[in-house]
Amino acid sequence: MLTATDIADRITTAWADHLTRQARPNTPHDHVYASAWRVCDRRMVYELTAPERLPPWPADLLARFRRGDDRERDLLADAARIGRDADPPFSIIGQQERFVLKDHKSRPAITGKVDARILIDNQRMPLEVKAWAPMLVDRIERFEDLFDNPWTRGGGYQLLAYLYGAGEPCGFMLLDRSGLPRLLPVNLEANLDRMEAFLTKAERVIDHVQAGTLPDYLEGDSAECRRCSWYGHTCNPPLAATSATLLTDPELEAQLERRTRRSTRTSRRSCAAWNSASRATSRSPASGASNRAWTCRPT
Ligand code: SF4
Repeated sequence: MLTATDIADRITTAWADHLTRQARPNTPHDHVYASAWRVCDRRMVYELTAPERLPPWPADLLARFRRGDDRERDLLADAARIGRDADPPFSIIGQQERFVLKDHKSRPAITGKVDARILIDNQRMPLEVKAWAPMLVDRIERFEDLFDNPWTRGGGYQLLAYLYGAGEPCGFMLLDRSGLPRLLPVNLEANLDRMEAFLTKAERVIDHVQAGTLPDYLEGDSAECRRCSWYGHTCNPPLAATSATLLTDPELEAQLERRTRRSTRTSRRSCAAWNSASRATSRSPASGASNRAWTCRPT
């Protein structure tokens, strides 16, 4: 007879098998996906020409992808209901509309699908929904913040590509959070340089694919190489400071940043208490101390 532990193990295995069976294999393609901006051109060429060389996604990661898809669908359904009673009312339309951006040689360079559009005040504004790890989302307050983090930067370029492809001046990024979702407005004109750089990058990558060549190794960013899926088995750039330990987990990075913030807050509180006591002592005739109040500053 199976024990409860055996049953739990078997169900977890069946769950993982189910997700693994549903995973679609990566296949070579001749243009860049809007979601696939990378800092390294060489990595983008690999992704177009040899995606089958990457190991399959582990079941745990596939489960996270699935959860993200579920959250995106739920958020859009909620938004559609909320829009009926909003002032002004809005609706969610045009889900999964495909777009193609061509390069200067009229080749399809970047393709993608817009998650949805918000129809409000006679405007049809593109909307991209992201259900990233809470640790990442906590650090994002403005659209520009996406570009500060290697794990969210691609999402920023993705939405810019949608706006550019749709010829829309403005759109939104809807971020899933444990509380209210965060809706970030995005203005294409303010980010036009970024978008044009993405298009130029895609054109350069396609040139390499068509010529059967590889761009040079990425220089000066060994952290990027170490978190790159191609590092070690397909691409072996000479990295400086190989003994350094580099973080490749966005949640761990976020936890460390939080801890730093907490310790800064604690330090501020301690200094405030010290300064208050120091001022009191310097004012007290009974202390017999000099009248100078020493000041503590948080580091
Ligand atoms: S390992 Fe570095 S150089 Fe090679 S593809 Fe990845 S990021 Fe580019």
